[in-house]
Amino acid sequence: MADTRYIFVTGGVTSSLGKGIISASLAKLLQARGYKTTIQKLDPYLNVDPGTLNPYEHGECFVTDDGAETDLDLGHYERFLNSPTSQANNVTTGRIYQSVIDKERRGDFLGKTVQVIPHITDEIKRRIKLLGKKDHYDVVITEIGGTVGDIESLPYIEAVRQLKWELGRKSMVIHLTLVPYLAASKELKTKPTQHSVKMLLEAGVQPDVVVLRTEHDLTEDIRRKVALFCNVDINAVIESIDVPTIYEVPLRMLNEKLDVIALNKLELGLKHDPELKPWRSFIERLLNPEHTIKIALVGKYVELPDAYKSIVESFVHAGAVNKAKVDVKWVHSEELEPQNVENYFNDCAGILVAPGFGHRGIEGKLHAVKYARENKIPFLGICLGMQCAVIEFARNVLHFKGAHSTEMNHNTPYPVIALMEDQKNILDMGGTMRLGAYPCQLKSNSLMEKAYGSSHTMERHRHRYEFNNKYLQDFENAGMIATGKNEDTDLVEIVEVTDHPWFVGVQFHPEYKSTVVQPHPVFVDFVGAAINYFCKK
Ligand code: GLN
Repeated sequence: MADTRYIFVTGGVTSSLGKGIISASLAKLLQARGYKTTIQKLDPYLNVDPGTLNPYEHGECFVTDDGAETDLDLGHYERFLNSPTSQANNVTTGRIYQSVIDKERRGDFLGKTVQVIPHITDEIKRRIKLLGKKDHYDVVITEIGGTVGDIESLPYIEAVRQLKWELGRKSMVIHLTLVPYLAASKELKTKPTQHSVKMLLEAGVQPDVVVLRTEHDLTEDIRRKVALFCNVDINAVIESIDVPTIYEVPLRMLNEKLDVIALNKLELGLKHDPELKPWRSFIERLLNPEHTIKIALVGKYVELPDAYKSIVESFVHAGAVNKAKVDVKWVHSEELEPQNVENYFNDCAGILVAPGFGHRGIEGKLHAVKYARENKIPFLGICLGMQCAVIEFARNVLHFKGAHSTEMNHNTPYPVIALMEDQKNILDMGGTMRLGAYPCQLKSNSLMEKAYGSSHTMERHRHRYEFNNKYLQDFENAGMIATGKNEDTDLVEIVEVTDHPWFVGVQFHPEYKSTVVQPHPVFVDFVGAAINYFCKK
């Protein structure tokens, strides 16, 4: 649509200032005023997508309905906007170069020298504009990853400069920087912001708004100084103060009138006051919990909570619904032994075994499952966590000695989790990962059918291995039931243990679909069961 407005969000001074949260908060406010808004993340690294990145490097890999493996910021976008993103919402330098090089190989450039400017910048601009056109958005917010001044961000900043020129008043730039506080002199310092804006100006980009991340309230003096040095209106100097929860940021931005300033700049009307009732009531419940419960998250990246970002946020959403604060107890799977599990879990109201790949920490996960199953502690296994639940049940209830997933042991006598026949054939093509949204039929009267309040759902996947249906009858006879199935392929998507108050394993990732206004039923029910367990204890 010709009239789509484009907002670019850049960052300066340091990384991790929360560009994603500022982008998502502004998008939320514009959406709440009735504008169809989406957010896009441009990542300056050379990987084609974050799918192959180690979680230690880049945190969680977020998966969209269309099966794209994307940056974890897309999770924030979805949680704030409650609308799905897609492959088009995340672009990396690797992907940009790949398509330019593919075009070059096809001869599309008709013998011209292919260069960063204009070919790479054209491809960046095409991908930015494509998103606006695709679903007729009123506003597209594009977050530029990295920090101004990084060599690898340069083509993006150049693309922003060109687009600002082309689009004129249909575009604007918001620059997020840090105002550090010097405790010794009790002063906020603006110099890093001045330098960072200068660097942006050197690249030919004048920001329209400067958002200042700060630990202390900005004085009028500070705002005036930044306005003066950065060529922006004083009301376009926005304070972004540290808050206890990221979900408060949209309300802070509302107080600072970031939405009004953006709409004025873009020559869009204010329409109506933002409709934020459900959001406010969520915050109200979040900040006033009646219970605090501990839930263990067993994984192998626990020293890096960003690796499980969506799970942690799903607990925040589900906690608020249940008027509870969920304290996540991080438990490293490699540390768990049969003789010490009790010490790790005796103060927990629930145990979650996390997704993952590879053998490391797997036996610890199996000990955690066994402890939850035998002690009737609410248990949720996600993806690899569900597979661990199946393996543990096979070994300890069915007495299938040496049962395993073929991912961990090719020669297991009981491959209860394995590659399906049709996957084996495409192994060489490397296309074996089941990614994106698939339907799931829920068994009537199961825990999950009740939790969903429906007999059908669509959930996102990211895995290779599956429950081996060859053993399904044995499992069901012994009390582990397949309560969710893909009807087209017959693949098992959910297992439940009948002789247990709440024991659920899901092959999919419910955490990718939990949002503030639509907390995920699997998490809501799990937290509810954990509260019951905690209250009875
Ligand atoms: N490694 C397992 C598989 O590929 C589980 C993946 C996951 O937990 N996301 O099937």
